[in-house]
Amino acid sequence: AEMFGQLTTGLESAWNKLRGVDVLTKENIVEPMRDIRRALLEADVSVPVVRRFVSSISEKALGSDLIRGVRPEQQLVQIVHDELVQLMGGEVSDLVFAKSGPTVILLAGLQGVGKTTVCAKLAFYLKKLGKSCMLVAADVYRPAAIDQLTILGEQVGVPVYSERTEAKPAQITKNAVEEAKRKNIDAIVMDTAGRLQIDKSMMVELKEVKKAVNPTEVLLVVDAMTGQEAAALVTTFNIEIGITGAILTKLDGDSRGGAALSVKEVSGKPIKFVGRGERMEDLELFYPDRMAQRVLG
Ligand code: GDP
Repeated sequence: AEMFGQLTTGLESAWNKLRGVDVLTKENIVEPMRDIRRALLEADVSVPVVRRFVSSISEKALGSDLIRGVRPEQQLVQIVHDELVQLMGGEVSDLVFAKSGPTVILLAGLQGVGKTTVCAKLAFYLKKLGKSCMLVAADVYRPAAIDQLTILGEQVGVPVYSERTEAKPAQITKNAVEEAKRKNIDAIVMDTAGRLQIDKSMMVELKEVKKAVNPTEVLLVVDAMTGQEAAALVTTFNIEIGITGAILTKLDGDSRGGAALSVKEVSGKPIKFVGRGERMEDLELFYPDRMAQRVLG
């Protein structure tokens, strides 16, 4: 299923109700607004986000600065488009690189969201930008996770740093940064241990790693299939450890799109990348305007 399919159809019923009207009025936008509200809620957009969104577009629809000569339903489409772009952060939020020394990108996230895959995809992305890259396996609890990252590293042709020792993740990641400095590597992507749910020891460990390596980017990987739960996770991780953004995975699945629309508004942090599949090239920068276009169909 196309991610925004249902949302797109829901919004279309709003525009359709305006066919034949000459001007948007307080009365004739009631029904379309109800359709928009329902479509967003069904797409699993967070409730307060929906409330603010609908109130803002109603206000703009009745505002005086509408474009002359444009059909009312087209005006509403334009307003919703612009508001969706704002909702998702307006501009693209590109990776930030360190001014000197290696850029350290620390990835966090719950188990199974696609974090290890994202590590390798990011290495692939960085290589395409002409940056030398190193991956770090800091999930010390699951040897299988280290093996998985090692295999993915080989696949994209990037070295993987790991220590199969008793050392703590903060120490391993610190050693990795030293190694990267010696080898003049531009960017380091660190895979950390996930858990099935948020738990205290995970947060403590992430804080220790963050303190040890002073990352340029701390990105939380979240699964689009979890809808508004993804936005709640971004908020919690941001409060607990301080993050710079999110990576939304599995947009190729049958998610309804709520996560993509809620994360920025709920958490204050931008989505930087989206994952759309299992191949290494299936990671793209998140462009709010392109995403809004997809919502509108
Ligand atoms: P981790 O536990 O967070 O490290 O998750 P993994 O990286 O091991 O990924 C879990 C599963 O999700 C694997 O089977 C991946 O191939 C799959 N996966 C990761 N990202 C995506 C994506 O964007 N789309 C799809 N369809 N599958 C993905």
